[in-house]
Amino acid sequence: MIVMKFGGTSVESASAIERVAGIVKDRLMRRPVVVVSAMGKTTNKLLAIAAAAVAGDRAAALTQLEDLHLYHHREGVGLGVETEIETHFQELAELVKGLAVMGEMTARSSDAVSAFGERLSSIIVTAKFNQFGMESQHVDARSLIVTDHRHTQAAPLFAETYQRLAEKIPALAATRVVVMGGFIGSTMEGVTSTLGRGGSDYTASIVGAGIGAEEIQIWTDVDGMLTADPTVLAGGYRVKRCSFAEAAELAYFGAKVLHPATVLPAIEKNIPVRILNSRRPQVEGTLITAEAPPSTTPIRSIACKKNITLVNIVSTRMLMAHGFLRRIFEIFDRYETPVDMLATSEVSVSLTIDHTGALAEIRREIEEFAEVAVEDNQAIVCMVGDNIRTVPGVAARAFTALKEIKVRMISEGASQLNISLVVAAADLTHAVESLHREFFSNPDPAAFE
Ligand code: ASP
Repeated sequence: MIVMKFGGTSVESASAIERVAGIVKDRLMRRPVVVVSAMGKTTNKLLAIAAAAVAGDRAAALTQLEDLHLYHHREGVGLGVETEIETHFQELAELVKGLAVMGEMTARSSDAVSAFGERLSSIIVTAKFNQFGMESQHVDARSLIVTDHRHTQAAPLFAETYQRLAEKIPALAATRVVVMGGFIGSTMEGVTSTLGRGGSDYTASIVGAGIGAEEIQIWTDVDGMLTADPTVLAGGYRVKRCSFAEAAELAYFGAKVLHPATVLPAIEKNIPVRILNSRRPQVEGTLITAEAPPSTTPIRSIACKKNITLVNIVSTRMLMAHGFLRRIFEIFDRYETPVDMLATSEVSVSLTIDHTGALAEIRREIEEFAEVAVEDNQAIVCMVGDNIRTVPGVAARAFTALKEIKVRMISEGASQLNISLVVAAADLTHAVESLHREFFSNPDPAAFE
């Protein structure tokens, strides 16, 4: 069995779904289990509808709902699921009206609304597959993916989920293509929950782990991982193979192709994950495995994170005192503001954050015992590669390549598979170009294309 996950753009229209059907059909021998996202931008639209309803704009909410209804009707017409689509939109309309009356939205009702995207897409995709001559079976993911109660960010209850998956899916997949929605689940009591935005990749990985799939394929709209963030530098190479650790690091530092949590269940069960392009299925994509084969190029990819704020905290009074870091981090923790990168000296701490909503309060509290300077418009450039650990001179090469650029902060994590730098946002493209030239002017053909 393989798990094939298709994202929103891959299923955004009838013709896109047909392309997906073709891709799945070519792999029937491998007994595919298909996980789909909501169609196109449906999740965003659902949340906007709910927000309009809660804000008291009932008319706007219902108009947008009608648009979404027409969109699903249009893309799903002629597949014999018109009534099912209709019933779903009736249920959704009731829910939206309820929100308008209540004037408030709980995390639980937000999940009830956003789950409609995957509920609908999975029904439409199943019908399309059947019409395409592939015997297919729709399974409601909510009956298999069991989660805790943290609505909008629910965590799967693995033991229960794996048991249900193992009981249900392999038997079905023996004779037909199983199709289910990503992102959605339900609590033990059967209340609809979701795994967090972008969670369909996570579903694919959970399903793969639960059924012991031989491979998890994440079909998207890029050729796989690239050697540089394509929004910063065009013309990067495709990374043919990378390790789980590298993939997690790249995802954490902003590579958009993979949800960081995706890799976890797959790592545990040692299942390879392949990233593929549904518009160019002939391209081999990027294969992520526990260990990647050695390559003569010391880094695998350069990831970037934009809109970063650098916070410098200085306190001479803290010289030799213990508890300084604890005091600082306790404040960031209390305001639920994650810290990305960190560098310290005896009297100063520099750190980066990307959520600045509570920065004013955080700053006020820290200023009770230290001086704070904030610089926004910064960016993180992160070079990732297992080889950084073993190949000497990577940092020296990087800094030589960056000799014209002011680097604000440097950090090399204990894992030693990344070297991260903070530069001004205005220097980002130049920095990535320089590093890419240094490390990828002659890429190892075994590892890059
Ligand atoms: N549809 C959900 C979202 O847009 C989940 C996903 O596509 O992965 O966040």
